[in-house]
Amino acid sequence: MSSFKIAVLPGDGIGSDVTNESLKALSAVAAAIPTLHFQFDEFSVGAGEFLKRGNPLPEETFGQFPNYDAILLGAMGLPGVRWPDGKEMTPQIDLRERLDLYCGLRPIKTYHPNDTPLKSQRPIDFVLIRESTEGLFAARHGSADLNSDSATDSMRITRHASVRLFHSAFKLARTRRKKVTLIDKANVLPSMAYFRTIFNEIAKEYPDVETEANYVDAAALFLVRRPWDFDVMVTENMFGDILSDLAAGLVGGMGMAPSADLGDKYAVFQPSHGTAPDIAGKGIANPVAMILSAAMMLDWLPGDDAKRGGQILHRAVAEVLADPANRTPDVGGTMKTHDLGDKIAQAVRA
Ligand code: ATP
Repeated sequence: MSSFKIAVLPGDGIGSDVTNESLKALSAVAAAIPTLHFQFDEFSVGAGEFLKRGNPLPEETFGQFPNYDAILLGAMGLPGVRWPDGKEMTPQIDLRERLDLYCGLRPIKTYHPNDTPLKSQRPIDFVLIRESTEGLFAARHGSADLNSDSATDSMRITRHASVRLFHSAFKLARTRRKKVTLIDKANVLPSMAYFRTIFNEIAKEYPDVETEANYVDAAALFLVRRPWDFDVMVTENMFGDILSDLAAGLVGGMGMAPSADLGDKYAVFQPSHGTAPDIAGKGIANPVAMILSAAMMLDWLPGDDAKRGGQILHRAVAEVLADPANRTPDVGGTMKTHDLGDKIAQAVRA
């Protein structure tokens, strides 16, 4: 018997629409595997919660997370809702830092050739790993005098964070096509030369894994010209932030891009997209990224039941998406969020 407690944080905008569809899919998985059980407990977070009670990530909610096996998060943020000093609220980034979720996994995969804007029909299947606790994002804790003549943000790279990040990349590559590409800017930034030195050091422990290093500007070009050559890509926080949106664009957009933020103790599973205010409330949000994030949660949870559940859910998504008619408007289809979610849940049951 495998029983898991999942903290569910639907958040704002399309977050709750897509979260509902992922819970539908997970319930179908639990129904298919009698020894697998989930308890879902919902918590209010995000800009809506800030408007109600003054904090987008209440401390009493944060304090509950150690009682859960995993966190499933929709999306947080609403246009115009900011801290009194005008700063944007970024509770999802706070979560990564506070729970030490250093390994941001962003799988990028085509499920049908129609989904890519590229002319080539070659399948795309790689994972971008984004370091999620430091890098250039570490500068967000600083401040700038908006009336002065200059402002500076620093990139923070530590040995501790880099070593564990690279081990995650190499271990993942061993389960895939055994290739890791480091993305950096080692030719210009000293912090990135340091990052590359540590990468080369860790690579020696994985002689069976092929390695290469690309400067981030070249990586942007290669992603568009020959994305099928990548297997596992690993990079610092900001480069990963930018390249993961580019990568999502290669396979149909943000609605097709799941993610997992993993630490050694905690993990948060959420789609790569935000709250999509332009389509919120219309019932047309693409639930695929969120459902695939739920499948990644099953891959990560311990035990054979969860692993089998992950396989079933990945297979169900692939089966449904093999028919290009099964698409929401963002990927050129006409389906509604809940209809696509129903199809995937049905495929799980089948
Ligand atoms: P954030 O800053 O939180 O990332 P954003 O508005 O910059 O938010 P998204 O919310 O990811 O970015 O939206 C970017 C674009 O992608 C929008 O046009 C949005 O409608 C579209 N989009 C994002 N996610 C989905 C989805 N699941 N289904 C359909 N369209 C989506």
